[in-house]
Amino acid sequence: MSPRPALADLPARFDLVVIGGGITGAGILHEAVRAGASVLLVEQNDFASGTSSASSKLVHGGLRYLKDGQWRLTMESVRERNRLLRSRGGLVELQPFLMPIYQGMKPGRAVMRIGLAIYDLMGGQWRSRSLSAAQALQLEPQLRREGLMGAVAYEDARTDDARLVLRLIFEAQEAGGRTLNYVRVSEVLKADGRVRGVALHDLIGGERREIEAGMVINAAGVWSTGLPGDPGGAPTLRPLRGSHLIFPLAKLPVKRAVSWLHVRDRRPIFVYPWEGVALFGTTDLDHGDGDPARPEMTADEAQYLMEGLNHQFPDLGLTLADATSSYCGVRPIVASGKDDPSAESRESASWSSPGWIGITGGKLTTFRVTAVQVLTLAAKQLPVLTPLAEAPPAPTIPGRLQARHGPECVAWLARSAWAGDREDVPGTPYVWGELRWAARHEAVMHLDDLLLRRTRIGLLLPQGGVTVLEGVAAICREELGWDEVRWAQERSRYLDLWRRRHAIDFPGSV
Ligand SMILES: Cc1cc2nc3c(=O)[nH]c(=O)nc-3n(C[C@H](O)[C@H](O)[C@H](O)COP(=O)(O)OP(=O)(O)OC[C@H]3O[C@@H](n4cnc5c(N)ncnc54)[C@H](O)[C@@H]3O)c2cc1C
Repeated sequence: MSPRPALADLPARFDLVVIGGGITGAGILHEAVRAGASVLLVEQNDFASGTSSASSKLVHGGLRYLKDGQWRLTMESVRERNRLLRSRGGLVELQPFLMPIYQGMKPGRAVMRIGLAIYDLMGGQWRSRSLSAAQALQLEPQLRREGLMGAVAYEDARTDDARLVLRLIFEAQEAGGRTLNYVRVSEVLKADGRVRGVALHDLIGGERREIEAGMVINAAGVWSTGLPGDPGGAPTLRPLRGSHLIFPLAKLPVKRAVSWLHVRDRRPIFVYPWEGVALFGTTDLDHGDGDPARPEMTADEAQYLMEGLNHQFPDLGLTLADATSSYCGVRPIVASGKDDPSAESRESASWSSPGWIGITGGKLTTFRVTAVQVLTLAAKQLPVLTPLAEAPPAPTIPGRLQARHGPECVAWLARSAWAGDREDVPGTPYVWGELRWAARHEAVMHLDDLLLRRTRIGLLLPQGGVTVLEGVAAICREELGWDEVRWAQERSRYLDLWRRRHAIDFPGSV
C-alpha cells in the first residue's frame, strides 16, 4: 500500500546518510540526489514532525534581522524567497504585509521606509509603499484607530512548511533517493577515528540494521546533540519556543498580513490569512530542558499573545475561546550568550569531523543555501557529493495541487473513479482526493501524519476536525487497509495528541 520500504530492502552502503527529515535534512537530500549521490534520509518520527511543521510559515527575508544588522542572512533570505516564488508557486505564494504606524512609535515611518527600501533593493524589485491612515483603514478596517498615522505596505511570502518538506522528500525519492520515516538513528558507527555509518531502528516494524555511509550528516535540529557515538564538536544550542494561535477568519478578518510591535515588549508579532484561517504569532522564549518533541504553549504565552492581539484589534473583542487551535515549535538556535532570546542570531552553524557533518540553526526560507553549504563542506571529504551550483530551473508556475503533490496527482485526480475525491473537505481548502493521494503515495503511517502534515486539517478545523473523521476513516480503510480496531487506535492516538499539542485548554483561560 504505502511505498515505505523495510530496512531489509535497503542497500548496505550509501554515499550519504542524512539524519532528520525536517527542512534542513530534506534540503540536503534534495540537493545531494540532484548531484547524483546515493542518499538515505531517516526520520525518527514523521517527516516534518519536528520544528519544520511548527514555523510561522513565512518565506521571508526577515525585516527584523535587518534591524539587528544581520545583512547576510536578510540578503540570502530575500533571494531565496524570490527563487521559491518563481520555482514553487502554488506552494510558496506572495504575501502582502501592512505595518501600521502610530504616533510616537519607534522606529517611525522614515526609518521604516529606509529599511524597506534596502529590503526592496536586496530583492531587486520595488515592493513597498507608504499609506495614509485612511488608506490603511480601507485595507484593514479593524486596526486600532487611536493614534494611527498611516502604514507601510510591503510583500513577502507564505508557504505550508510541512508540505514544502514533503515535496522535497518525495521529489528526491522519485529521483532515486531513499527515505524512511519512523526510523531512528540509534548509534553513530565509527572505525579508525572516522564515522563509517549508522545503526538504524525501525520504530514501526522493530527491525534494526547497520548501514555504511561515505558521510553522515546530522540535521537533527534541536536533537542534534547526544546521539550515542556522536563524534562531538556541536555548538551549544539554545532551544527557543514559539507559539501560535489560529482563529477563524470570520472572527479575525484580516485580508493581508498585519505586523506590529507587541505593546508589552515591542517584539514584532503578526497575523495573516493562511489556508482559510487567521494565523497569529509568535513568542520567542527559552524552552529550557523541556522535551523538544512535545512543546506546548503555556497559559502565560497565550495571555501574552492575546494582549498583543487585542491591543491591535480592540474592536474585535477576541478571547482565547474564539481560537480554533494552537501550535508551537522549538527553534534550534546556536547560543551566543545574549540575554534576550530574540537577539540570538538565526544563522545556521555547522561542525565536522572525519565522515561526519552536523548542521543546525538557520531558517526554513534558506534551506537550499544551507544544503549547498553543507554539501560543499562534505565534498572536501567525499567528492561525489559536490553540490550543483545552479538552482534547478523554474518550471512554469504549477497550480496548488501540483505544487503540493506533484504533477501525477493532478492527472490522477482528474480521472479518479471516486467522484467524491473532487469534492471539498468542508471548511478546508482541500479536496478529499488529496487525502486519498497522500494515504496511497505519501508514506502515511499514522492518522496524525495525514491530518497534521500531509494536510493541515487538524489545525484548521475545530476540535482537530472531528466532524470530518468519518470521511477520513473511509479513505484510511480503502487505501491503508486499516480495520475497525486499527482505526479506533489511530483515532484515539490522534485525538490525544491533538488535545495535548493543539487544544486551547488552560485552567481559567478566557
Ligand atoms: C515558532 C517558530 C517560527 C518560525 N518561523 C519561521 C518562518 O516563518 N520562516 C522561516 O524561514 N523559518 C522559521 N522558523 C525556523 C524554521 O522553522 C527552522 O529553522 C527549521 O524548521 C528547522 O528545521 P530542521 O530540519 O533543522 O529541524 P527539524 O524540523 O526539527 O528537523 C529535525 C528532525 O530530526 C529528527 N531526528 C532527531 N533525532 C533523530 C534521530 N536520532 N534519528 C532520526 N531522526 C532524528 C527529528 O524528529 C526532526 O524531525 C521558525 C521556527 C519556529 C520554532
